Amino acid sequence: MEEVNYDKKLDNPNEDLNTETSVPSNFIQEIINEDNESGKYGGKVHTRFPPEPNGYLHIGHAKSICLNFGIAARNNGLCNLRFDDTNPSKEDIEYVESIKEDVRWLGFDWDERLFYASDYYEQLYQYAVELIKAGKAYVCDLDSQELRDYRGTLTEPGKESPYRNRTVAENLDLFARMRAGEFPDGSKTLRARIDMSSPNINLRDPVLYRILRAHHHRTGDQWCIYPMYDYAHPISDALEGITHSICTLEFEDHRPLYNWVIENLDLPAKPRQIEFARLNLTRTVMSKRKLLELVKNGHVRGWDDPRMPTISGLRRRGYTPEAIRNFCERIGVAKANSTVDYALLEHCIREDLNNKAPRVMAVLRPLKVIIDNYPEGKVEMVDAENNPEQPEMGIRQVPFSREIYIEQDDFCEDPPKGYFRLAPGREIRLKHAYYIKCESVVKDEATGEVIEVHCSYDPESRGGWTKDGRKVKGTSHWVSVQHAIDAEVRLYDQLYLDENPGEDSVLNPNSLIVLNSCKLEPGLANAKVGERFQFLRQGYFCVDKDSDGSHLVFNRTVGLRDSWAKKS
Ligand code: ATP
Ligand code: MG
Repeated sequence: MEEVNYDKKLDNPNEDLNTETSVPSNFIQEIINEDNESGKYGGKVHTRFPPEPNGYLHIGHAKSICLNFGIAARNNGLCNLRFDDTNPSKEDIEYVESIKEDVRWLGFDWDERLFYASDYYEQLYQYAVELIKAGKAYVCDLDSQELRDYRGTLTEPGKESPYRNRTVAENLDLFARMRAGEFPDGSKTLRARIDMSSPNINLRDPVLYRILRAHHHRTGDQWCIYPMYDYAHPISDALEGITHSICTLEFEDHRPLYNWVIENLDLPAKPRQIEFARLNLTRTVMSKRKLLELVKNGHVRGWDDPRMPTISGLRRRGYTPEAIRNFCERIGVAKANSTVDYALLEHCIREDLNNKAPRVMAVLRPLKVIIDNYPEGKVEMVDAENNPEQPEMGIRQVPFSREIYIEQDDFCEDPPKGYFRLAPGREIRLKHAYYIKCESVVKDEATGEVIEVHCSYDPESRGGWTKDGRKVKGTSHWVSVQHAIDAEVRLYDQLYLDENPGEDSVLNPNSLIVLNSCKLEPGLANAKVGERFQFLRQGYFCVDKDSDGSHLVFNRTVGLRDSWAKKS
């Protein structure tokens, strides 16, 4: 095992990193500046974050949230939260509640501006009637296969539907009867009458409404026709007075349709769609469909499993809103797709917790050490700094006694070259306490495994320095046996073995390792769910919600070693 001088590295793993704190300008801000100068929206900036409540939010959504709420805040504007709930078969109230919780937790506030596309169903219907009256929409009887066949391809134009030239009166009658439930699911659609030979397939008479008998989590069984996203979205934006409708790149080809809807209806506002590149992260799948599969197939323990890239998973894992917001600032906003290294996200949480998290000692895989020349029954309280980065966080006192635990890794009976921790005849420093030297070991007779290490200590070395100035290379953390608190600690690794997981990527069988006999310093007895600590030399940990009065559970948020800092 590689030896690191933890005394130097331990407390500030990110020491020599420059941190970019200023907010970079981006192309969206430039568009807004132009609009402000031309007076297009009278200087107003109004954005929205429009999740579909068909799953929990993930870190990609955090980018969109930070962008939309951030742009509004920086421009004295407003940002709405709008549920884009036009697909009832996949949506659920559980998702609505989780999304609200996550946006709030990230630190954003929509005040009273909480909207649902389903609130506009009646208006959307009336606007469709207007399109029909203007000869710009028609009821079509082609089924979904026929619709596909008629649509053409990228290289071939589409074919006009035989129903395209129905009269306005006939269309009005049929559309009303679609709403009234006279026709079976999928038997008819309402389509925009645009251009079947458009090079942009989205403009080839796109479907605006479909017949679908599905219970909606808000409107119940009131509707059996539902509007399509491309139709509902621009109108919802306009009804809310949105100025800049920011969405991800895959909607770029839909922008002409967005604009067609805005231009062909008498709407209260004319929002502008702007696309940016979605966040992709190494080691991670981000689509809600795939995340839902992981949950449904029992590969994780729910949407908030600490291995999930969901906001609720990251929260449970111990991430802070500050770290996630900082991450979103750093990755910036671009027009071209790219993949961000997961290590940058880890770097951001380390950087935040380095300043905030109190240091404590916790032994994850305990090995008993008996200090034979230390008086039996004696307990000394030794001073331990809570955070060397933040002296104002003060010191605490930790009990030291004759029997302590150290990490199994910190002892080696037959040490390889370069191993500087405890070994027969070797001396090390116990953090905050004394120098100890290994005198002998006790082994399990059956297995040969070392079960006790016997040491002597130097009473003159209290605090970790000797009178004669002799030096040791190894420093171990420790916990007093009689004072130790038991805990379960969960260590996490990436869910997939691949750097860029695809459809047939294999799950990592070791993505969760549970350690059941961890020993913590006694001050942690009252740790509250969600509280975060640095376990010296082990990383950052946070108390999991599975804890109760008699059983403490910790999640490892992230280890100390910073691979991103090394790469950059
Ligand atoms: P997914 O593909 O993960 O299911 P989605 O785009 O269907 O996501 P929505 O609920 O429709 O999810 O997304 C709400 C908003 O969040 C949209 O504006 C969408 O563009 C944005 N968004 C979703 N995923 C990302 C991402 N990875 N990076 C940036 N923004 C995203
Ligand atoms: Mg979507």
